[in-house]
Amino acid sequence: MSSEFAIIEDYFKPISVNDSAVVIGIGDDGAVLSLPSNKQLVVVTDTSIEGVHFPKDTQPFDIAWKSLAVNLSDLAAMGAKPAFFSLALSLPTGLNQNDWLKDFALGLKTLAKKHSISLVGGDTTKSTVLSITITANGWVDKDKAILRSTAKVDDLIFVSGNIGDGGLGLKKLNNVQGFQSAIQRLNRPNPRVELGLKLVGLASSAIDISDGLLVDLKHILDASHVSANVNLDDIPMTLEVKKYSAEINNPFFALTCGDDYELCFTIPKNKQHVLQTIQKQLSVSLTCIGQIVDGKKGVIQLKSNHQHLQSKANAFQVEGFKHFV
Ligand code: ADP
Ligand code: MG
Repeated sequence: MSSEFAIIEDYFKPISVNDSAVVIGIGDDGAVLSLPSNKQLVVVTDTSIEGVHFPKDTQPFDIAWKSLAVNLSDLAAMGAKPAFFSLALSLPTGLNQNDWLKDFALGLKTLAKKHSISLVGGDTTKSTVLSITITANGWVDKDKAILRSTAKVDDLIFVSGNIGDGGLGLKKLNNVQGFQSAIQRLNRPNPRVELGLKLVGLASSAIDISDGLLVDLKHILDASHVSANVNLDDIPMTLEVKKYSAEINNPFFALTCGDDYELCFTIPKNKQHVLQTIQKQLSVSLTCIGQIVDGKKGVIQLKSNHQHLQSKANAFQVEGFKHFV
């Protein structure tokens, strides 16, 4: 058992990237950070609670990784360059142990290093339930943040990577064999930070897919006062996800399961060609799934050449709206 101070000293102080912008990091009452001129600060916060956001037996490395990843994914959606983060950790006494803390700190450090983001402070408390709140900060050039509210009629809608793996991973979590890559996608999502940075000045709007592609796209539509046509046949999915959707007879599984942490963004048609270069540079697939159209705010019209959607599409719209009443 370690004291709060020993925990901070032993496990969290070492997670500070050497960063000249951090004048005072962990150890004083507050962090002191140097702000670059001509930049704006993007601030995001996400909480992960055991039993709500991850099952009780999740590995500490993965808990830490995902807690930071979901924040980095929000920064990515804004087109921000990660800079600093703070960590508020509520720790049940049972977890106040070297092995658990060591693995948790390693998960955090591994992802933080990958994206050059410095841990600059936090809070450590005892609790009955494990809870992790991370606040992350990133930089954007003045007035260049990518917003949800600026999609325009005729813009094309794109998603990065594949959709549905994290959701499949959650369904198959207790499988001892198979589905390992889907489970990996669930536990260690790779936030699309580099893509977000490339989309600045290019995408007209963006959001990261955490709750489900349709629900998250709807946030863009609501904020931008537009509607969308989406072609279900174009949604990028692995064979595994397609097979599972067919098995459960739900063509909307991947579009509604969430836990993707891919980016959904819109782009004017005449800028579309730039995406080919970005795909090559970043080795990430970018797939056009539909188009922004004029119409009733927030409505997604789903189409498919292969599936009979009408009744289910209507059902989705009801579900979608239910979410927001
Ligand atoms: P105070 O009592 O003034 O709030 P604390 O004792 O809570 O200070 O924290 C001491 C220092 O350790 C502070 O700089 C704080 O930001 C940092 N800190 C506390 N918990 C964490 C944590 N989980 N991760 C990173 N830094 C932390
Ligand atoms: Mg404090």
